Amino acid sequence: MSYWHADLYNFCPRCGGPLEKRLIKAGEPERLVCKVCEFIFYIDPKLAAIALVPLDGGLVMVRRSIEPGYGLWVVPGGFVDAGEPVEETVVRETWEETFLRVKVVRLLNLYSYQNHRTVVAAYLTQYLAGELSPGDETLEAQVFGLKEIPWEKIAFQSTRDAIKDYLKIANT
Ligand SMILES: [Zn+2]
Repeated sequence: MSYWHADLYNFCPRCGGPLEKRLIKAGEPERLVCKVCEFIFYIDPKLAAIALVPLDGGLVMVRRSIEPGYGLWVVPGGFVDAGEPVEETVVRETWEETFLRVKVVRLLNLYSYQNHRTVVAAYLTQYLAGELSPGDETLEAQVFGLKEIPWEKIAFQSTRDAIKDYLKIANT
């Protein structure tokens, strides 16, 4: 078994030597190992954080102006910077994409999928201030009624799954 994305990298980030795939431990995926300095280049998961922002009885969504998923809907969110508390990512990305100030209420759920490198942490948030308008990487920002979620035009499985989990608590 090999990482599906191991072919993305050819050279050692430490010394510039060539990487090769090597089975280090039985039962684990092959790792990328530097032929020169033996550095093991682990392909780690990437963490993204997204915000469920209830507003006016609906849910805030944004339409992406970048790939992947150009033109499709998601909820505000993005990649967590190394060293950044995840709750701060949620607040920062929501501001950058929607100009809404929110605070984190709690973690809703965590989503990971076979052969997908990104792991998504979805947070329930509470609106504090601001007027909804499209910011970074966003064509449109809109509140959708809970019965009007654009399910066929959602960019990612994690977005769909997070909204489904949100609806379970929003409808009770
Ligand atoms: Zn090396």
